[in-house]
Amino acid sequence: MLDIQKIRADFPILSQKVNGKPLVYFDNGATSQKPIVVIEAISKYYEEINANIHRGVHTLSQLATDAYEISRGKIQYHINAKFAHEVIFTSGTTHSINAVANGFASLLNENDEVLVSALEHHSNIVPWQMLCEKTGAKLKVIPMNENGELIIPEYENLLSGKTKIVAVNHISNALGTINPIEFMIKKAHEVGAAILIDGAQATPHLKPDVQALDCDFYVFSGHKICGPTGIGILYGKEEWLNKLPPYQGGGEMIATVSFEKTTYADLPHKFEAGTPNIAGGIVLGTAIDYLNQIGFDNIADYEHELLEYGTKKLLEIEGLKIIGTAKEKTSVISFNIDGIHPYDIGTIIDKLGIAVRTGHHCAQPIMDFYKIPGTIRASFAFYNTKEEIDALIEAVKKAQMMLS
Ligand code: PMP
Repeated sequence: MLDIQKIRADFPILSQKVNGKPLVYFDNGATSQKPIVVIEAISKYYEEINANIHRGVHTLSQLATDAYEISRGKIQYHINAKFAHEVIFTSGTTHSINAVANGFASLLNENDEVLVSALEHHSNIVPWQMLCEKTGAKLKVIPMNENGELIIPEYENLLSGKTKIVAVNHISNALGTINPIEFMIKKAHEVGAAILIDGAQATPHLKPDVQALDCDFYVFSGHKICGPTGIGILYGKEEWLNKLPPYQGGGEMIATVSFEKTTYADLPHKFEAGTPNIAGGIVLGTAIDYLNQIGFDNIADYEHELLEYGTKKLLEIEGLKIIGTAKEKTSVISFNIDGIHPYDIGTIIDKLGIAVRTGHHCAQPIMDFYKIPGTIRASFAFYNTKEEIDALIEAVKKAQMMLS
């Protein structure tokens, strides 16, 4: 059992008032809040060891390099990667996906196909579209059903020898659907395709095991898992990272440079051009330690309780419809209220201290599928409470009364 009040005390922002009301932060899908250990670790880095890494022989540079590489090791251990050099630091999920999509440009031609799903965030659509424009390859889309689940037999039909890469999220940011990625990975491999899993919305709720999953790439962002913004991870199997050309050229990623020819450094440096987000990389390790101390099983159980409670309470509101009713769901509830624009509800409940996301959630094709302009999305984290859900319910009822 989690001691939620004790956990909440770790997050200074949660005791704030917003618009004169206690903050109820239900926009965890966009970014998580940060515990004090993470905030302090950022200051500590700049106060005590700030130096550039992998270059200097001086003591601070060594200390910063060691801390950065220790953190890489923590992430390797956390996701169960076989090698530390399969863990590449990037600026976030978007950067990670672009790095892989750019790498594939050298491998595809007009006879090839790239598969994405109808449930993707724009970050896992646009880089693949750009790849297809560049190479002439064809982009195909795995369709979804009314519940917000992928139609897996259709996925199996779309897969063929032409499929070179499949890019699909582990969990949908807009609806909370958990996709059957184990099966999808197995099927992609049966036709010889690579598969990238966008874990941006999964890593806050579960601990991925990339070797058990056997995915070729797994990507996520630090800021959604209690870490700072501007840091993220690209995990890739060694053989794939060796095969793909680097996304960016510059310092740190080279072995030798002459005007005639440059040779690239070994992994992971080949994909880490320039001075990285050193503090971010180090502190991402701190954030992961913090989450592991709480325990992902505890997090999942408690968030599931919040999901069930929130779903039941919201459905008691007349005219409220939940969008996305997949059997396998994480603690995200997207909803709309008859005759009222989501933005109007969001604006009113913000005045009551409640932070939710409204709009298309960077997933316009999902909104087009349901023929809606957007939704109101409440996404819960392990530091939220049932009392906060009660406050959301009261606020939504008040907004509904004012607007209808
Ligand atoms: N994919 C999914 C499923 C997401 O939820 C997000 C962030 N909302 C992203 C990709 C992009 O992440 P970032 O903006 O941190 O690069």
